[in-house]
Amino acid sequence: MSVRVLPDFLINQIAAGEVVERPASVVKELIENALDAGADQIMIDVVDGGRTSISVVDNGSGMSRHDLEKSIMRHATSKLPDDDLLNINYMGFRGEALPSIASVSDMIIDTCNGIEENGWCLDCSTGDIKPSSWENGTRIRVNNLFSKTPARLKFLRGDKSEMISVLDVFKRLAMARPDVGFVLNNKWRFPKNQEITERIISVMGDDVRGHMLTVDAISSNASLKLTGVISEPTLRRASSVDQYLFVNGRPVKDKVLFGALRAAYMDVMHAREFPLCALYLDLDHRSVDVNVSPAKTEVHFLEPVHVRNFMIKSLRDVLAKTLDEKTNMNSYCYTGQSITNKKINFNLGDYSRVSSPNRNAPDIAFMFKPVKDDSLENFFESEKPDATDSQIQNEGTFPLGRVIGQVGNKYILSQSGENLIIVDQHAAHERITYERLRRYDIKRQPLLTPIVINIKSEDGEAILSISEEMKKSGLYIDAFGNDAIAIFEKPADWDLNWDDLFHSIADEVREYGHSAQLSERLHLKLANYACHHSVRAGQKLDYNQMDALLRDIEKTNRGSECNHGRPVYKIIPFAEIDGWFERI
Ligand code: ADP
Ligand code: MG
Repeated sequence: MSVRVLPDFLINQIAAGEVVERPASVVKELIENALDAGADQIMIDVVDGGRTSISVVDNGSGMSRHDLEKSIMRHATSKLPDDDLLNINYMGFRGEALPSIASVSDMIIDTCNGIEENGWCLDCSTGDIKPSSWENGTRIRVNNLFSKTPARLKFLRGDKSEMISVLDVFKRLAMARPDVGFVLNNKWRFPKNQEITERIISVMGDDVRGHMLTVDAISSNASLKLTGVISEPTLRRASSVDQYLFVNGRPVKDKVLFGALRAAYMDVMHAREFPLCALYLDLDHRSVDVNVSPAKTEVHFLEPVHVRNFMIKSLRDVLAKTLDEKTNMNSYCYTGQSITNKKINFNLGDYSRVSSPNRNAPDIAFMFKPVKDDSLENFFESEKPDATDSQIQNEGTFPLGRVIGQVGNKYILSQSGENLIIVDQHAAHERITYERLRRYDIKRQPLLTPIVINIKSEDGEAILSISEEMKKSGLYIDAFGNDAIAIFEKPADWDLNWDDLFHSIADEVREYGHSAQLSERLHLKLANYACHHSVRAGQKLDYNQMDALLRDIEKTNRGSECNHGRPVYKIIPFAEIDGWFERI
């Protein structure tokens, strides 16, 4: 067998294997080309999930006859003027898309640059080029995708499923450029020059309105900038569909960024749930390599740890600030006096104590008993405990208000100003317990016989590089000979499969320069503990217990969400209730 250089059509088909995986990749490449050509209106039509035809029409610069002929040659691009692969200002740069798509479909391009007398039409299957009546911008039609490569055709999923992928690509690009108008199959329409928030709502759905928090952060040395929005923890999805991430304007699905997002929400959302976001990270072109894969959804950061930490901190700041504001709503005014006066005796057992027998725990059922007084409010006041063991002088000003009673043995009702408040007793206590546990130093247990983990030396190095970080989770480690690591101290009462954990941490550190696995496990452990050591739904509470619970939740960080991201309380303004009864 002699060595031979493959013919161009085969080389293109091989390249197509990387660039054009499915119809969605064609749509992506064609939209990106339209954006690169400066279009501000792009219309896409996709038939049968893209299998039968894909058409993309733009009002961009168009091409001259000469450029049109070149555009379907391999590695022909207008986008790398100074041959610098790190300085990429366009979405495309490889010059691979058009020749690849042409090699696996019947592609026809109509284009007009407005300078030449007429437009041009190129039939890529035959190479025929002829004058066309096309007047403005470019239309690319891709018919019978993969019909020339039946093996690829077989790998396509059903039309519906391919369409979902097309829609995903479409939405991501539409989010990247709210200034550009997009239409898909005449059904999904995003007008041009939309405000970013309106574009986000059009893409993600109306339920996000009013529930997104603004992010606008810049790193201390000004090298990283993060803008966009993230969802309040109570708004979440069952998958990552509505997580939109962009690096220098390019939609990415990058593990460093997804990981940072998850870590930022770790305290307020269950690991199996996903916050929504549209986050735009901007950094110097030289600090990120987008030249990783032809699909270009992954990037390599020069300093992944820096990026990750900056993102976690920026997002946590936003979450903490907003959640605190929520807790400190209305006219919440502790006097310094009342805080110190109050016994904040927080034992885990506090609320689980059996109701004191002499205290008549007001239950909502009381409301339906005949009462002499015509005001229910007065009735309950007479049931309140003595002023001495609570801050009675401030009662009117507590944000979570004065306890009215318990319903269903799981919700506490209270009133604050012109609001009725319903508190989920379990979620509330769980959040208090969790935040309290977090303030403790972890109790460490020195090991008489260290736990030794055999590990390849490069994996060992990776792990030792984050040993300071591990200390924060209570783990003291050091090298143990050449091919092992030893744990000398670990959190008491914490036994894991250290071997597995360390190997998987090493993989992560080597790939991303960082690993959050240990802190995530610690979080899970705390969350689990908090959940099992908190007042349950179904437990009857007396007035003091309920009052203490409300007062504590007011002082707790992120008190408005439990550590699974569920709401802890709901505030119903009387005005809303008036509406129910048509009392306006
Ligand atoms: P790349 O985008 O990486 O340069 P492509 O194969 O996608 O490679 O496109 C090749 C060239 O064809 C581009 O560099 C551009 O000059 C031209 N081109 C492609 N699509 C369009 C379009 N819609 N409008 C104008 N020019 C286009
Ligand atoms: Mg391109």
